[in-house]
Amino acid sequence: MSDCLFCRIVNKEAEADIVYEDDEIVAFKDIYPAAPIHLLIIPRKHIDSLIDMKEEDVTLIGKMHLVANKLARNFQIDKKGFRTVINCGRDAGQAVYHIHLHLLGGQSLSNSFAAGRGV
Ligand code: 5GP
Ligand code: ZN
Repeated sequence: MSDCLFCRIVNKEAEADIVYEDDEIVAFKDIYPAAPIHLLIIPRKHIDSLIDMKEEDVTLIGKMHLVANKLARNFQIDKKGFRTVINCGRDAGQAVYHIHLHLLGGQSLSNSFAAGRGV
């Protein structure tokens, strides 16, 4: 989708600090980090939101979590711990409608998390 910010990042039409990519997944640093480590893990395939996930996307969404696992190790937050979040829809504060997994860590995280903020 040409009008989607994260599709533009996938297609290298918009700048991002990319920390991981393979044939299905791209991960990059959040431009407004809510924690010392704040990465966004996205599929190359455009899916609006978790509510739009289909049976055929099960492996892809699983791979996003496997990439979170790898990046947590690479960024050395695997031992102390980290949080993954997918905001879905208005009440969750989803701002970008291309599904993304937030990976947050590098500090003690509070129990609340809203719209990528409030750690
Ligand atoms: P959401 O609120 O949709 O779950 O999260 C969207 C995230 O995308 C936010 O944490 C926001 O900081 C991040 N973001 C918005 N625009 C950009 C951008 O242009 N580049 C990067 N790297 N992150 C962005
Ligand atoms: Zn998109």
